[in-house]
Amino acid sequence: MLYCPNCQILAEGEVCPECGKPRLREPREDDIVLLAEEGYLRASMLEPLLEQAEIPFSKVGKLGSGIAAMIGFTQDTYRFYVPYAAYEPARDIAQVLESGPEGEDALAEQDSLDGPAE
Ligand SMILES: [Zn+2]
Repeated sequence: MLYCPNCQILAEGEVCPECGKPRLREPREDDIVLLAEEGYLRASMLEPLLEQAEIPFSKVGKLGSGIAAMIGFTQDTYRFYVPYAAYEPARDIAQVLESGPEGEDALAEQDSLDGPAE
């Protein structure tokens, strides 16, 4: 895994998938890495899980608090950043959330509905 200091993400290959720049380097322990981008609901589930695991993170609303206050915080998208040193345990937590009970609920809901919901 290489690190793009420009986008603050980890990339599998030689070129950053975000900005397309090949100026990637080995990540350092204190590099800030984008962990996940989540909607309001998942963000509010992920946040306490990271806190429980004592992983330091910063949560950044995409819209900024001014706009989010106008259209509602539930419309915002949140980016979670963690230090590279904590990236692996944090990623595990985020992945558990991705494949968590929410997906199963959605499937169960489909089965129990008579017709399409919308
Ligand atoms: Zn980049």
